[in-house]
Amino acid sequence: MPIPPGSPGASARYTFDVVVVGGGIAGLSTAVSARQAGAQVVLLEKASSSARGGNTRFADAQMRFPHEADEYGGRTYTADEMYSDLMRISRGRANPDLIRTLCENARATVEWLTGLGVEWEPGYPHTAGYRRSPKSGGEGLVDLLHRRFEGLGGTVSYETGAVDLIVDETRRICGVRCHSPEGVVDIEARGGLILASGGFQANVEMRVRYLGRFADSLILRGSRYNTGEGLNMAIAAGAAPAGQWGDYHSAVLDARSPRIECGVTALYNYQMGIFVDQEGRRFLDEGEDFRDHTYVKFSKFIVEQAGGEAWCLFDQKAYQREEFARAWRPVGPPLEANSLKQMAQQMGMPPENLLETVGNFNAAIQPGEYDLDRLDGKRTVGITPAKSNWALPLDSPPYIAVPVTGGITFTFGGLKCDTSARVIDTRGQLMEGLYAAGETMGELFYYNYPGASSVIRGAVFGRIAGRAAATASHV
Ligand SMILES: Cc1cc2nc3c(=O)[nH]c(=O)nc-3n(C[C@H](O)[C@H](O)[C@H](O)COP(=O)(O)OP(=O)(O)OC[C@H]3O[C@@H](n4cnc5c(N)ncnc54)[C@H](O)[C@@H]3O)c2cc1C
Repeated sequence: MPIPPGSPGASARYTFDVVVVGGGIAGLSTAVSARQAGAQVVLLEKASSSARGGNTRFADAQMRFPHEADEYGGRTYTADEMYSDLMRISRGRANPDLIRTLCENARATVEWLTGLGVEWEPGYPHTAGYRRSPKSGGEGLVDLLHRRFEGLGGTVSYETGAVDLIVDETRRICGVRCHSPEGVVDIEARGGLILASGGFQANVEMRVRYLGRFADSLILRGSRYNTGEGLNMAIAAGAAPAGQWGDYHSAVLDARSPRIECGVTALYNYQMGIFVDQEGRRFLDEGEDFRDHTYVKFSKFIVEQAGGEAWCLFDQKAYQREEFARAWRPVGPPLEANSLKQMAQQMGMPPENLLETVGNFNAAIQPGEYDLDRLDGKRTVGITPAKSNWALPLDSPPYIAVPVTGGITFTFGGLKCDTSARVIDTRGQLMEGLYAAGETMGELFYYNYPGASSVIRGAVFGRIAGRAAATASHV
């Protein structure tokens, strides 16, 4: 429950202009931008310095943003296109004002990161060319932004977990109580408190409460520290929950991945092969859309409807493609077999089922040009489910297979915010002094997820929040 300023129980009190809770991309972008705007800033990180950086640390940190043709590789991608992709993938439910703000600020935010020293990989194939990732991945991004922040004179407090909001008699949010190596400390914010402490994906109790019984056993892809305190503190102080609290981000993972903080162990090349369930039957349209627009929903389908685990099966035509290896990170060698019968035996399924599935699949493939860079329409007819694009026969042994499952990356439910990242309460009014950014902000993603959108949303809204809170601290 929120506490009044000066409440007993704290061993020390500190005051800053801007207080940032969390040190992933959203918190670091907030902290750097607030410091650039001249505010005295502290960043509170629940993890130790060696485990800092939240989910961002585990990510490749690919970012989508509007750009001109050939400027960064690939075709022109406009802010309007990005807007319509994000709205379409949320089935129209995302907050249009937040999505518009994200799309219109993404490019300038990428340039800001470049100005801070981020170096970029070349664009990615088969994603329409609209994403890039930092050369040093998410971990390098976290390290660089920490160096910049501390170089600008910012303060970082590690092993400092926020537990309660401090709220004054006018209902202004004026700080946060923390558990720190010094004991219980109160950290007051003159200009603003920014919650950038992620979602609740690492909290099994909240996962089951909001996502359902199946969610207790999900593989946690990222940080163990995102246990929902930021959300709970804000809601206890009157903030409005917003967005799809019953849904989450996932990916098609190698089922042999470690159960926690497994990092990138995902397969993004399933559109070059087929999925089969434990009985050897296909169960979804692997070529429904670009993998960027399907991997989250497919992984949830595997977890919730296909018995938890399935197989991804390829032949050598796929396996030998130059881009194949770049699009998967299995945690161990794949199964390999010279015949489908042998493969089925290794997988532990009835060989006749797999032979029938692949035979029917191969026979249903229509002629056409295979082109992974577009929805090529090279499809099957007469089988259910269809494969709508990129359908090639599986007929070139040795066959390759990896066991796959889903996992949890981050949760979609968050806090209601305006386009300046200010938190809104359950009466629809601004909560003075309180901001949210990154996974803690709601209403961006629903049902599914447009690849390469979460790091950029953290950077965009973190930067906005940092500037706004710094300005507020000067008035
Ligand atoms: C394996 C993997 C790959 C991914 N790949 C991509 C990708 O390529 N592109 C993309 O856009 N997204 C990707 N994502 C998702 C993306 O990384 C995250 O959604 C995004 O980085 C979240 O940023 P954030 O700042 O909101 O949260 P985080 O980076 O998770 O940071 C949250 C911070 O809050 C701290 N914290 C938590 N609770 C408290 C508390 N009570 N007090 C103080 N501190 C607290 C945490 O320790 C952490 O520092 C990936 C995620 C994973 C796990």
